[in-house]
Amino acid sequence: MSKPTWSPVARKGGGPPVAVITGASSGIGAEFARQLASAGMGLVLVARRRERLAKLAQELASSSSAPVEIEVCDLTDRESLEALAERLSSRSDIDLLVSSAGVALVGRFAAAEVSRQISLLDLHVIAPTRLTRAVLPQMIARGHGAVIQVSSLAGMFSRLSSPTYGSSKAYLNAFSESLAEETSGTGVCFQALCPGFTVTELHSTPEFDGIDIHARIPGVLWLSAERVVRESLVGLAEGKRVVVPGRRYRWLRALAGNRYSIALACRWRAGRRWRRRVEP
Ligand code: NDP
Repeated sequence: MSKPTWSPVARKGGGPPVAVITGASSGIGAEFARQLASAGMGLVLVARRRERLAKLAQELASSSSAPVEIEVCDLTDRESLEALAERLSSRSDIDLLVSSAGVALVGRFAAAEVSRQISLLDLHVIAPTRLTRAVLPQMIARGHGAVIQVSSLAGMFSRLSSPTYGSSKAYLNAFSESLAEETSGTGVCFQALCPGFTVTELHSTPEFDGIDIHARIPGVLWLSAERVVRESLVGLAEGKRVVVPGRRYRWLRALAGNRYSIALACRWRAGRRWRRRVEP
């Protein structure tokens, strides 16, 4: 059976197809909003910071006539998540879900604050799972749709990453792949987007206080959010289930199974130095 591909198509009843984007107030999520708006899609922007979402909606209104809605929601709050999921599942116009909301966590598992670890799992595992369940039935019924889980290269190298962060991204990769198999033939596409270091606000949070990550990671390894999103959408149009943006990171991915590779050893040493630095 040929791989399903996705690109925005006008709905039969009129009106533009709609994309729901979590984590739309900044970074990769905001860039998805910009690129999908310029492709004519209607948008539902989800995050906690209302003023950021409103500013983005205003910016997009000047370049696109497609409607932009705002959903202010803390996705780690189960009640708010459930209410959002119910609102989304009652619609029939959602053609794309991009789950981009995420946070970073550094430090050793046994030392990191438990509430932050649980909250990360709520955001990276429970919320994407619940929202995918909310939109999938309407996509299957229409025979068209796509779900992008913004995962990370860390999901492929989880033993070298922070245990909760890397493992949560490994879950997203497995979840996406498994759904692609389960829904094969329905016309719905699934993609696990696995970027490496990307210039966003992720590394500017208090979590990274005292760590100058840009000084530690060579400039050639930093991707722009624009490139990450562009490669993701091209991958969706080609039916790619896993997208690793950037040639250097694709080489790294190819080495993932080779435990003797120099690249992995270097990364491992850098990780150990970093962990030693951030440990209390
Ligand atoms: P940013 O910090 O720029 O964006 C994170 C987004 O998540 C913000 O819009 C933030 O909005 C939202 N968010 C955080 N917590 C919550 C919450 N509790 N409820 C709702 N929304 C929330 O980071 P990125 O754009 O880089 O991150 C996007 C995704 O990309 C993440 O899943 C991250 O793991 C992944 N990624 C990033 C990489 C990088 O190097 N930047 C590399 C690999 C993967 P608000 O604060 O307004 O709620």
